[in-house]
Order: sequence, then C-alpha cells, then structure tokens
Amino acid sequence: MMYKAFLVKYAEIGIKGKNRHLFEKALCVQMEHALAPVDGNFQVTREMGRIYVNTEGDFDYEGAVDALTRVFGIAEICPVVILEDTGFEDLAEAVVSYVKELYPTEEKTFKVCARRANKNYPMHTMEVNCELGGRILDVCPNLKVDVHEPDIYLNVELRQKIYLYCESIAGPGGMPVGTNGQAMLLLSGGIDSPVATWMMAKRGVEVEGVYFHSPPYTSEWAKQKVIDLAKRIADFTGEFKLYVVPFTDLQLYLLENVPHDKLTIHLKRAMMRAAEKIAEKDGAWSLITGESVGQVASQTMQGIYAINAVCNMPVLRPLAGMDKQEIINIGTKIGTYDISIRPYEDCCTIFVAKHPQIKPRLNVIERIERKLTDLDKYLEEAVENAEIIEL
Ligand code: ATP
Ligand code: MG
Repeated sequence: MMYKAFLVKYAEIGIKGKNRHLFEKALCVQMEHALAPVDGNFQVTREMGRIYVNTEGDFDYEGAVDALTRVFGIAEICPVVILEDTGFEDLAEAVVSYVKELYPTEEKTFKVCARRANKNYPMHTMEVNCELGGRILDVCPNLKVDVHEPDIYLNVELRQKIYLYCESIAGPGGMPVGTNGQAMLLLSGGIDSPVATWMMAKRGVEVEGVYFHSPPYTSEWAKQKVIDLAKRIADFTGEFKLYVVPFTDLQLYLLENVPHDKLTIHLKRAMMRAAEKIAEKDGAWSLITGESVGQVASQTMQGIYAINAVCNMPVLRPLAGMDKQEIINIGTKIGTYDISIRPYEDCCTIFVAKHPQIKPRLNVIERIERKLTDLDKYLEEAVENAEIIEL
C-alpha cells in the first residue's frame, strides 16, 4: 500500500472563527469513532489547521476511506504518500513513479504545488515546482502543464518528511455531530424519518430517537426493523440512543374515545407530547420528524398545524419541502431505504381511518381532548415504561 496517511479537509467548520478548535476537536473525535472498527492502527492529529490520519503498519485502506466518507464535517479526504527526505533526486524519482502509476495513459493537465513547511529545505518552492514539473513531462507524454486550471494538483508538502497527494475523495460535508446541540427524533419504521435524522445529524445535531410501539398491533418485526434502522443511523452519528415507548394502552384509549376520522391527528399529538417529555428529560432542544408537506392525510397544512400545537419545543422537519423520490434517493444512498421497505406494518389497520380528516380544526380537536381525562395518565405511563436501547 503506497498510502500511509490521509489529509482531511473540512467543510463549513473552516469558517467558525474563534470556535474553530472546538469544531476541529469534535471532528477528530468523530473520525476516531468511525475508524475504531477498521483494521489498522490510526492516529488522528491536528497540525497547523489541518487534520491528518496517520497510520502505522498495514491497514484496511478501503475500510478507512469508507469510514471517513461517513463522518459529517469532512469535505475531502486525500490519501497521502509519505516519503523520507533523502534528497531531491530521490524525491523526483518517487514523484515521477507516483504520477505514472496514477495516470499511466490518460491525457491530463497538471500543476505541481510545493509547500515548504520545513523552512530549511535547500530549494525554494518555485524551484521544486519547476524541477518536478520538468521531470514529469520528460517521462509522461500524456501529461501537460496547466498552471491556471489543471486537472491534477500535485501537492508536495516539504516537512520533516515529505507528503505527496493529488487525489481527493468527497466527504459528506456538513458539521461534526455534537457541535450543534441535541434533538429528539420521532423514528418510525418508514422511509422518511431515518432520512430526516441523517439531514439533521449532517448539520452537527446529536440525534436520539423515540419509537412508539403498540404490540400486538405492531409486531416484534416492526420493532426489530426500527432497531436495525437505528443501527444504520449510528453508522454516521457515532452512537444512537433509542427509546421504545409502549403505546398500546394509549392508542386503544384514543380508539375508543375520539372520532375515527380524527384518530391519526390525536395519535400524532400524543406522540409529540410523549417525545417532548422524553426530550426535556434528556437535554434535547428540539424534536425532529420525517413529515413532508402533503405526503399523507395528516401532513396537510391544517394537519401539521393541529399536531404542532401541542409542542413547546421547535419541531424540525427537514423533509418538509422534499418529494418522495428525493427522500428515497437519500435513503438509498445512506443505506436505510432497504430496511425501511421491509414489509412489516408500522400501524395496524384498525387504527387507520378509511377517510381521515385532512383539514382538522384545532378548536375541535382541543374540545375533544379536553374530555380525555385519562390521557395524561396514559402518557405518563408510556414515558415511564420506555425501554432504552443504546446503539
Ligand atoms: P415515515 O416514513 O417516517 O414513517 P410517513 O410518511 O409514514 O413517515 P407518518 O406515518 O404520518 O408519515 O409519520 C409522520 C412522522 O411521524 C414520521 O416521519 C415520524 O417522525 C413520526 N412517526 C410516525 N409513526 C411513528 C412511530 N410509531 N414512532 C415514532 N415516530 C413516528
Ligand atoms: Mg410512517
């Protein structure tokens, strides 16, 4: 393996001014977390505004790249060749063979970009650029120099050792998880809510989840599916805490006591209330749902208005303006879609109205709820009996 390190370029955290070191630290922690299960000995270091992953001995290159492409905050991952500084002739030879190996025949333009971090290096930057450029031209007829818009930037960092890189692998962008507070996600077994998690985690939010489970109306398979989704989510958030809240009694109580066409709205309101209670206890600042405007009967403007009215916390709906296909595309990319489409009902048909009300009026909903004198009791019970699963 010719690569011995990765230079990691970060996304937006570069613009965070005084807080930058906090963001860098958080990014390093997330990178270490992601690399922990990968074969090899990795050290993540911060040096002069750059982040490196150094390796010792053999390591799983593909595994390391795969892990890093899931860490939010990373814009680019550059695999680096590290050379001992044994004089310019050796350097030139190594550079030429590196370039030849990467670009044996394709017609490309390039530019050598030397950086002299070691101020004692006996040649100046310009000299190094010209000399190395010349050597490459001598042996690679398929390559031409273009100093303005080259296809390849051949970076040569002259330090105690010499760092050579020109490839760049795209990272996911965003901000390191944990740098923008904590939020509670309502995670169902559907397609949307896992994608909503990914979108908020990408913005640096530490996300935990709550799943409302109503056995025997929702099966153990449905619960397992949510746990599997949570595992997949943990692949890009580092870890994930899932609350499984028993909702059967509450759901049956609503089934008996509210008009059937309004059941979904009442149920969703109960879910929001329970989620907010857990969020408050756990230090979260907002709720997240996978709602998308107009997608189902309860996601009309009036539906969202009636559901939202029970919340004091802000409710983030990152999918609000997205089409189903756009959501599916992300779900496929992040590996949640295949799990989401496993055929287990996330809600039993007795709870689903044939003709749900699509324009509920808040005052009517509230009037019905005022008569639900046991609702609070059921909510408390559900929250108290939540099972916590750490992934
Ligand atoms: P999803 O694909 O995320 O299930 P959906 O299109 O099926 O969404 P709904 O079933 O109306 O839409 O759910 C809207 C949102 O309510 C979900 O995205 C999720 O955030 C939350 N939600 C629904 N059911 C549950 C549940 N059993 N447990 C936790 N959250 C839920
Ligand atoms: Mg659903």
